[in-house]
Amino acid sequence: MRVYVQTDIEGIAGFCFFENRRNPSAENWSHRQRMYRLLTAEVNAAVKAAFDSGADEVIVNDNHGSGYNIIFEELDPRCRIIHGRNFSGPEWLNLLDASIDAMVLVGMHAMGGTPCAITPHSLWKVNDGAIYMSEASMAAALAGDYGVPTVFISGDDKVTAEVAEKIPGIEVAVVKQALSPYMACSLIPSRACELIAEGVRRGLANRANIAPYRITGPVTLTLLDSADHCEPFTEQCEKVTCDTITDAFNTCEESMAWCSRNTKLPDGFVFPKF
Ligand SMILES: [Zn+2]
Repeated sequence: MRVYVQTDIEGIAGFCFFENRRNPSAENWSHRQRMYRLLTAEVNAAVKAAFDSGADEVIVNDNHGSGYNIIFEELDPRCRIIHGRNFSGPEWLNLLDASIDAMVLVGMHAMGGTPCAITPHSLWKVNDGAIYMSEASMAAALAGDYGVPTVFISGDDKVTAEVAEKIPGIEVAVVKQALSPYMACSLIPSRACELIAEGVRRGLANRANIAPYRITGPVTLTLLDSADHCEPFTEQCEKVTCDTITDAFNTCEESMAWCSRNTKLPDGFVFPKF
């Protein structure tokens, strides 16, 4: 069994506001390191549970921001981890293909515009609003194109509710209750990790009964968001229509500024086209 662990940081227990990378204070630095440690523990709980469940291979995708959030030297050495820059378009879920047996989502956040959710952002508008998706359900839909079921999600009470409604039978760990966009009532991390491990074990055991989340084509797609992630939102890319949601997603992402391959990076490196 091959398991793909897609991760983000906003949905872990203890996280309730975006990191400010321009704030050089010791307090900000130590807060960010603390969030990385909490994320690492939650991801490790999922990884160990996957191996306990008989996985031969676990691939972790360190998918928030810089791609260097998980302290991977502390992860179970049996897994491998994807990290680095420019997680977008076809590289958003790198190495995900039909050979994966199940996807697990850890640390997910709600879609843009969700009232009373922790740091909600990114609102995928599918088929002219027939479906709205978070990054979490978009990941599940892209996996669905490969026939891969998404069997587990952790995050706040809002994103887990959204995804549970879309994917019958998915296992859920609600690691915090959102009280406002920037305030939460979280489980203590050790308890959050227990729930994640239990949920991953149950989800993988039941994976044959959890249908891949499939969006049948043709699919129209656009991304709604704003600079401060607050409404009103505007379309971040022109609406596209494609045969599959994977093609629609990649086409939308291609047009995003952050997907540009020849972007100059702060260290002077320029992404080569490939
Ligand atoms: Zn994130």
